[in-house]
Amino acid sequence: HANFSDMLARWATQQPDAPAIVFGDTRRTWAQLRERVQRVAAGLRAAGLQPGDRIAVLDLNHPSCLELTLACALTGCANAVVNFRLAPPEIVYVINDAKARVLFVGPEFAGAAAQLRGQLPLLERVIHIGGATDEYEPWLAAHQPDARMHPAAGTDCFVQLYTSGTTGFPKGAMLTHHGMLAHARNVAATQALGAGSRVQVAMPLFHVGGTSYSFVAWAGGAPIFMMRMPDPLGALQMLERERITHTFYVPALMAAMIQVPGGDKFDFSALQAVSYGASPMPLPVMRGCLQLFPKGTMQQVYGMTEQCGVVTILPPADHENPAVAHRLVSAGKAIHGVEIEVRDPASGAPVPVGQPGEIWVRSAQIMAGYWGKPEATAQAVTADGWYRSGDGGHIDADGYVYVTDRIKDMIISGGENIYPAEIERVLAEHPALLDVAVIGVPDERWGEVPKAVVVLKPGATLADPNELVAWCRERMAAYKCPKTVDVLAELPRNPTGKVLKRDLRKPYWAGRD
Ligand code: AMP
Ligand code: MG
Repeated sequence: HANFSDMLARWATQQPDAPAIVFGDTRRTWAQLRERVQRVAAGLRAAGLQPGDRIAVLDLNHPSCLELTLACALTGCANAVVNFRLAPPEIVYVINDAKARVLFVGPEFAGAAAQLRGQLPLLERVIHIGGATDEYEPWLAAHQPDARMHPAAGTDCFVQLYTSGTTGFPKGAMLTHHGMLAHARNVAATQALGAGSRVQVAMPLFHVGGTSYSFVAWAGGAPIFMMRMPDPLGALQMLERERITHTFYVPALMAAMIQVPGGDKFDFSALQAVSYGASPMPLPVMRGCLQLFPKGTMQQVYGMTEQCGVVTILPPADHENPAVAHRLVSAGKAIHGVEIEVRDPASGAPVPVGQPGEIWVRSAQIMAGYWGKPEATAQAVTADGWYRSGDGGHIDADGYVYVTDRIKDMIISGGENIYPAEIERVLAEHPALLDVAVIGVPDERWGEVPKAVVVLKPGATLADPNELVAWCRERMAAYKCPKTVDVLAELPRNPTGKVLKRDLRKPYWAGRD
């Protein structure tokens, strides 16, 4: 395929009656999918959307989000998919940042969208998806299929996924036809995924683990089986019921899966690949999964939004061979089509094999840049196309990549990236606080959770430090909010004024870091 319009046309012609998507009771073939996407494209054109314009989706997983993304491919627009776990002020930020002209909202978010409408000056229209006030199906029905295809360049963005950063605000990674197709090809080649596969999409579509993974399946002509929300029992039941061959989970979901009673009674005999990644895999969870899932299926993936998803894979063989047990803590080797090097983060010079440094990635999967942020883009991607991941690690003599550290300041909690800078920005506005630092502390359920360490203004008092947790909960997604607060007389800082987070973290991680 040259772009995603061609992809859709090809499968709708070659296998019109094969299943393309299954969601609850809804099963649609490739011919049906093409007709619906062409109606959506007509609707977007009728709404006045021009190539380069953005729409936004705020919903739990639903087939319409992917239909809209494909319709964006056909019309030259881009779909900015909003993280549905964000708090209202963050949702406003993302929709305004994207300059979205039309917002599609699921029933759970219709009330919030109506309340926020006054803060979204660029938005022209809101269309409800599903529920009692569904406007999406009538909107589709009102438009005749429009088969015209925008002559997409490989570098055109058609889906924009937001990734948080150390700057305190999320950035829209512009993912392109070329990048997404390269990703699909590279992953499919490594995982033997093709038209005969049956792919479960259990992770949210606002993340590459949902959207890019769907496109890996679709580019290969395979049907996807979509879940509205990640759900441990529901996902396991679907594996058996639908004879799923390929799936992707985050370790936090798998930690819950291995607790599901009677896990050993399921029939997972169709499974070929259970990929996991997006955050470090705790060894006890991995051991539980090696028991739960059939032999030869567990594969770790490491990657990032900016590269459309996967860049390394640790294959099943390395999970089950005691002779290479040390590789269980590695993220595997670069997949087909991807180059990985470890560089000195300051100078950019390559470091010798086995030495620690920053993980750099180069591939055709690279984003077009961060939407509206050329400086941040130039910082993240070098002139010769290397993406600086911000992850610390090393590569061994056999080419295995070990992700050991985070050069960028980030907390991974239950598979979600949390940037302390975002929380610090929100807490800094609290009238009683002089200084604040947010660190990750160990947590049994989530791996780590944010903790706020604060210094009060002279004379200021806090009746209850939990007041600060409530302050955050009004302003940001629940998963990002600090779970606990410590009050200190001052924060440890280096001579240039940078908070010494390592020192702050030390007492909480004693004996485990
Ligand atoms: P995102 O762009 O939100 O998908 O986050 C990408 C970041 O998640 C990477 O830069 C890593 O810090 C982390 N990450 C992804 N996969 C893994 C993995 N398998 N092991 C450890 N960290 C990971
Ligand atoms: Mg990121």
